[in-house]
Amino acid sequence: MVKLTIDGCVEEVSEGISIAEACETTGHGFPDIFRRLEETLRGVLRLSFVEIRGRDGVFDAHSERVTEGMEIVTHSLRLDKIRDRMLRLTLASHPAECAVCEKAGNCILQEACFAFGLMKGDSIGRSPSECEKVETGPLVEMHPSRCVLCMKCLNFMNDVAGTPELVVSGKGSLTRISPFVKGAFSSPISGNLIDLCPSGVFTDATSKEMFRPWQTERKKTTDVLDSFLPSVIMEVAFGRIVKVEADFTSRDGCGIISDRTRFGSDGLSSGRIDRPYIRVDGRFRECSWTEALMTAASRMQSAPKGKVAAFAGSTADCESMAALADLMKILGSDNTDAGSFYARVPRSAGRWRFCNTDFSDVAKADALLIIGSDPEREAALLNAQIRRNVMPKAMIGSRTEQNYAYDCLGGSSSLLDGILSGEHPFSSVLKQSRFPMVVAGKTLWSRGDAPFLFQKICEICFRYGVVKEGWNGFNMTGISPGMLGASELGLVKTEPLLPKARSGEFDVVYLLGEDRLTRSDMGDTFIIYQGMFASETAMGADVILPSASYAEKEATYVGAFGKAKSTSAVLPLLGQSREDWKILRALSEYLEKPLPYDNLAEIRDRLGALSAVFMPLTRTEEAVTSYGSEGVLLPEELVCESRDIEDNEICRRSASLRALKKVWKVGV
Ligand code: SF4
Repeated sequence: MVKLTIDGCVEEVSEGISIAEACETTGHGFPDIFRRLEETLRGVLRLSFVEIRGRDGVFDAHSERVTEGMEIVTHSLRLDKIRDRMLRLTLASHPAECAVCEKAGNCILQEACFAFGLMKGDSIGRSPSECEKVETGPLVEMHPSRCVLCMKCLNFMNDVAGTPELVVSGKGSLTRISPFVKGAFSSPISGNLIDLCPSGVFTDATSKEMFRPWQTERKKTTDVLDSFLPSVIMEVAFGRIVKVEADFTSRDGCGIISDRTRFGSDGLSSGRIDRPYIRVDGRFRECSWTEALMTAASRMQSAPKGKVAAFAGSTADCESMAALADLMKILGSDNTDAGSFYARVPRSAGRWRFCNTDFSDVAKADALLIIGSDPEREAALLNAQIRRNVMPKAMIGSRTEQNYAYDCLGGSSSLLDGILSGEHPFSSVLKQSRFPMVVAGKTLWSRGDAPFLFQKICEICFRYGVVKEGWNGFNMTGISPGMLGASELGLVKTEPLLPKARSGEFDVVYLLGEDRLTRSDMGDTFIIYQGMFASETAMGADVILPSASYAEKEATYVGAFGKAKSTSAVLPLLGQSREDWKILRALSEYLEKPLPYDNLAEIRDRLGALSAVFMPLTRTEEAVTSYGSEGVLLPEELVCESRDIEDNEICRRSASLRALKKVWKVGV
């Protein structure tokens, strides 16, 4: 132990620790704002320095070690003056425009000025009249003159996003960060600049002038628009979500979120249904829940056995899908299907994990083969990890723009045979690799030979050790959480029900959050729509049961890594809408066959009984064994470009994602 004096108090501390640690352990720690400022402006601003009696100058408390008899002073007139000067210097080029800045009220620089008393005295920073705005697209606004040159944005764009679209420009006091070329950021994770920048250079253009930081309520939840189910903090004001940011306190995830997560939630406030309706004489009539449920129940009861079918959509939660399947079983029907428009191949796969390489394990991989996938758009978070790994990368499929270099081997499906037989040159790269990775995309599912393709991919995986003891490098991208949950619950039929529904085989069809089946698909079938939006599907239905969105309920979803996560209710229920599983529970009463659960805990017990993935803190470890079946591959080229960001009704209704589509030049 070492005996020393800190601010006049004699203390005993462990040998070899830093002065900062000694101050912390003895209760003489620096104010929290010092730590936060130093972390935010790492390498730009240092405030934790001290004086040591008998030695000249000031010393950095983090790098200086304690010694016997040391006399440390953490606060003195001289130290306060130096800290004041350093903060002023940091802010010298930052415009004093807090009155009009969107970040005001949630700004560490403003907080620091207040803590250091800089607001009381003479003015700091540059005149606000010099402020300017630069065009960076529809989602992120840029005000370069607010920059304090911490370089976080530059490092993020160069090292993480892989799109070096920012540069340092100007000199002297006019040095700042600006876009290399004016125009929208092309990275699907560029929205993270808003969270990273401490000085309000990057702000959210979609929620501009809609709220002030002190008017919002921050709530932790899980986003379900991204198949990795990132933990997020949603800020709610005036009954709507105004901001979504990454939850840095969460252990899962990689500390960033995709633009789809950040900006897509505005789709929740467009075209919602907030009360039940029934169709009478061809027109919709508003009705009570009792009337709507009685109408639905009587049609389901009167339909002959096996003539009722149910479809779950890509945003359906696991509780409601389990309740729907149970209800159909009680009615004596096994006609429940999910993901009608999203997948074919997984129907034969049973239970599996779609993404098997954790974010942290991607760094271990030493070769990558992409097959028919556009990872940058389909799995932006996984792709950010792939980009950081300098392993050899190759792609089979049409050439797409990725934010890293790769060899395009061509688009012919016969290349898979060449890889499998070892004749193709890239097979030797895979052979030498200890931890090879394969990423297969969702465009493969839409091919007629999808089962044969996936069988071939599986054989490649086993041949080259992509899947082996202690390592699983097989990943499928672009699958929605609703689809993943449905597969976990065994709702994905080997034989799709959609063709039967289209041929009019069913008298009643129940659509749970399924917005892609329309009246023209169903003919005279009686349609019960349980969902959120006044979509084309809802407009063709006979009964409409309004349900809550993922932001208005506590519900379970399964992520691409095979882990179940729950959302929290960050918004109140809209109008008369209800949680999906509760609607099905109420309907079962009218069918006189009540489902055996009355609360969330009980239905979650039911989920646990259906699959281990829903037990707390468990995760399926079943690796892929076989996705498809033997067959002849079609000669058509494999397509990688899959910039369809509208794979559910929420995204289709999001104005921000529509704007993003234009930036990515998809479908315009
Ligand atoms: S723009 Fe923001 S993040 Fe980038 S260097 Fe300036 S202050 Fe730092």
